[in-house]
Amino acid sequence: MSTKSINYEFKKKLSSTLGGEACVYCYQCGACVGDCPAAMYSVDFNPREILLQALLGNEEALTGEDSPIWNCTNCYTCYERCPQAVRPVEVIIALKNICFEKVTAAPEVRELVNSVRTTGRTVKITSLSDRRRKELGLKEVRLVPIEELEKLFEP
Ligand code: SF4
Ligand code: SF4
Repeated sequence: MSTKSINYEFKKKLSSTLGGEACVYCYQCGACVGDCPAAMYSVDFNPREILLQALLGNEEALTGEDSPIWNCTNCYTCYERCPQAVRPVEVIIALKNICFEKVTAAPEVRELVNSVRTTGRTVKITSLSDRRRKELGLKEVRLVPIEELEKLFEP
């Protein structure tokens, strides 16, 4: 049987990323799994398993192209359930941020983030949506002040 050594560098990286600090306190009880909507609908997704892989420093499984972390809905149910205050959802968000640095995030997600960065919106405002709003008697959609948005993205 082949054994893989723990990737301490990756563990260190995750622990020093905002949200990833508490992953070392996970004792694998599984309380985060029972009410997790993503685990209910996807056999590939299990927050306890994600935490186990984080404890093992399994960088490839967690931040590779096929990482299951993108199935998380950010509902925060696991945050409420965890007796160790690991805040699994925040560990997953930290992993997503690491994926962005490594450019392994799915293209659809990258596109969404770019849209927010450049327009302040996840959905484009088109002339068609403008026309439809007018027909419905709705106000024009206000432009997002991009210069203020840029400040939020500053490192
Ligand atoms: S935040 Fe993610 S991992 Fe946590 S319960 Fe919701 S879907 Fe599951
Ligand atoms: S509930 Fe907390 S301690 Fe239990 S497996 Fe999930 S993250 Fe780990």
